[in-house]
Amino acid sequence: MHIGFIGLGNMGAPMARNLLAAGYELSVFDLSRTAVEDLVASGAKAVPSIGQLASSDVELVITMLPAAVHVRQVYLGDDGLLSKVAPGVRLIDSSTIDPMTAREVAAAAVSQGNPMLDAPVSGGTGGAEAATLTFMVGGATTDYDAALSVLQAMGRNIVHCGPAGNGQAAKVANNMLLAISMIGAAEAMSLGVSLGMDPKVLAGIINTSSGRCWSTDTYNPYPRVIDTAPAARGYSGGFGTDLMLKDLGLATEAARQHKQPVMLGALAQQLYQTFSNQGHGSLDFSAIIKMYSGEDQ
Ligand code: NAD
Repeated sequence: MHIGFIGLGNMGAPMARNLLAAGYELSVFDLSRTAVEDLVASGAKAVPSIGQLASSDVELVITMLPAAVHVRQVYLGDDGLLSKVAPGVRLIDSSTIDPMTAREVAAAAVSQGNPMLDAPVSGGTGGAEAATLTFMVGGATTDYDAALSVLQAMGRNIVHCGPAGNGQAAKVANNMLLAISMIGAAEAMSLGVSLGMDPKVLAGIINTSSGRCWSTDTYNPYPRVIDTAPAARGYSGGFGTDLMLKDLGLATEAARQHKQPVMLGALAQQLYQTFSNQGHGSLDFSAIIKMYSGEDQ
């Protein structure tokens, strides 16, 4: 199958490489020439514009873009995908964006005969490289079935979440909970240590008790509790504070539009916004513990 791939950043590049490794013919486009050249070196074909990619003989186009504004531009823009793509070509957007934009773009695609799925991912750059991403997929069942083998070349857990936009709904709900649980883990670890507990002993208790969660047992924010967590390497790498802030913005905006209260999600957004304003936007999001325990951590 000939696949087009647009957006070859931290996530898109390794995902595209996994498609090549699985034997798919791949045409790629990105605004960054370096990003395109890297993929060409891996065996992809460069295409000079989105329009030319759309009007080539691709059967499926996958996009992995920063935010909704880029997704709108790439799909709905004057020289965008939908202006050029032939009916029947399948479309998958794996960017993390708001469910409302995902539904709007999918409706425009479907109305002109292009089946479309939203398929945001979790698993980070490590999961993208190892082809172990989780895909949360929104769209028609037949389109999900048709795309499954392609998604399996890039991920391990592929979940059909319901109609268009539901992949993004699952993603924003999960990431809002992750932010809240990370702040909770940071607060509890800092309290216990300030009361005299050894951080590793405290983490061991929590992780065999009712406070256990991914933020305590896999990604504990306290330094040197878990050797593989960003907290063990000065909060470098991992999932950036500014990316978490973006996802919290998606969650609170979606909540506003649906009049759904998200008290803790809104508070988490304010805490991450403050933390980012303090100059920590590029640190892993578990560094939020610095708000409790000071800069010495
Ligand atoms: P990135 O900024 O590294 O890559 C985005 C790429 O899109 C860049 O190469 C950029 O040049 C390209 N691009 C932007 N506008 C374009 C346009 N109009 N036409 C063509 N190319 C264009 O971002 P990323 O880290 O790869 O993340 C991509 C998406 O995945 C985001 O929505 C992000 O929230 C989500 N995500 C990221 C992670 C992570 O750990 N990085 C994890 C899960 C989900």
